[in-house]
Amino acid sequence: MGQSTLEGTPSARMLRTAPGMESIPITTVPLARFHRVIGSRQAQRLRAVVRGARSALGERTIWHVNSTRTGGGVAEMLQTLLGYERSTGVDSRWLVIEGDAPFFTLTKRIHHHLHGGNGDGLGLGDDDHRHYRRIMRQNVAPLLSHVRSGDVVVLHDPQTAGLALPLRERGAIVIWRCHVGRDRPNRSVTEAWDFLRPYLEHAHGFIFSRECYVPASLGLAPVAIIPPAIDAFSAKNRPLPQRTVRSILRQIGVLASKGHEQAPRYRGANGSWHSVTRAAEILQTAPLTSGRTPVVLQVSRWDPLKDMEGVMRSFAEGLDRLGNAHLVLAGPDVRGVSDDPEGAQVLERCVARWHHLPQSSRERVHLVSLPMDDLEENAVMVNALQRHASVVVQKSLHEGFGLTVTEAMWKRRPIVASAVGGIQDQIVDG
Ligand code: UDP
Repeated sequence: MGQSTLEGTPSARMLRTAPGMESIPITTVPLARFHRVIGSRQAQRLRAVVRGARSALGERTIWHVNSTRTGGGVAEMLQTLLGYERSTGVDSRWLVIEGDAPFFTLTKRIHHHLHGGNGDGLGLGDDDHRHYRRIMRQNVAPLLSHVRSGDVVVLHDPQTAGLALPLRERGAIVIWRCHVGRDRPNRSVTEAWDFLRPYLEHAHGFIFSRECYVPASLGLAPVAIIPPAIDAFSAKNRPLPQRTVRSILRQIGVLASKGHEQAPRYRGANGSWHSVTRAAEILQTAPLTSGRTPVVLQVSRWDPLKDMEGVMRSFAEGLDRLGNAHLVLAGPDVRGVSDDPEGAQVLERCVARWHHLPQSSRERVHLVSLPMDDLEENAVMVNALQRHASVVVQKSLHEGFGLTVTEAMWKRRPIVASAVGGIQDQIVDG
């Protein structure tokens, strides 16, 4: 099947539909290319599922609504996986809500509560409901200008839960998909569900990543457990020759440059060739001088729950036992993740800790902020870093699922990760 795009070119940054909502172009990609990954029996099952889904959906559109186009696992999945839905003839589309800084501070607090912490410690009260509802109201009109009665709307995470009621009133089928959770709920988790319940009771059904994340308070609405997934064919996960990997690391600035060399090239989602032209912002005493130096890598958003600082501390403490290994902590340029207000603070704390490391450790720790101007270029940089790593680490304190774990395993990298949340569903210890 050929490749086409919805609403413009795949490189189009975003299309503003009306104030308060962005419609993100989706590049259609053929689902059939998975057949050689999953084998013929599974491919047959997949075809049957697609036929069933298409006939059940008929002319309905499936709208996915989330709160950021870039950064984090949800955006990663929507960016790569919706194109496959479209290739089956299902009219899948992607809308991103708009919010202000206090809204994203609040939704990050809810996120922390769902993981069992209390975030900035400000609690979840009536003022928060008022502001949450105000932002939801601003997004309703543009949303309803798209959605028809009978359409299916998948709302992702707490940022969008408040849209369930107006969508239901429009006659849409509303599914709320939750990408976070905590293995053993505590008081903070209950508080978050108490906050969300009045919004969620209007949803027709729910999707969670793990059974234990499902709160009892959801009542009898149907729940499906669907773990997140990566796209084996995306720029993030496609095979890269070792010389391209090293060339990308030189372009990023992690590996010392060999002088003038051509920009590394990669094939984009639409099949055309692109070059990696940007460099990362890196805090390091010097780039690695050899591609053979072992690298321990963690790739994450700059989020306290990813514990980048803890990785640095552990690495520095264990330096004697780590041979000549270096540590690379890589995350997105914090200006590029619109719904995560904590990124800059977490990065700042890592920078401060780096400056306090003894010289011998500092020389072996590299803090890398990857440019987010071009998402495919960012993805190919992550791909190269993961393929180059001797060991991938994911030292999350809590983790809804952890796509970075899947990505590392797909690339056959040894991985050491915390036994929390969805990471436990992915790693067989030993
Ligand atoms: N990621 C990225 N660029 C970066 C840092 C991270 O594309 O600079 C991606 C990472 O490869 C993964 C996603 O962001 O696909 C993070 O998803 P995960 O489920 O691990 O964590 P989340 O951010 O959703 O909590």
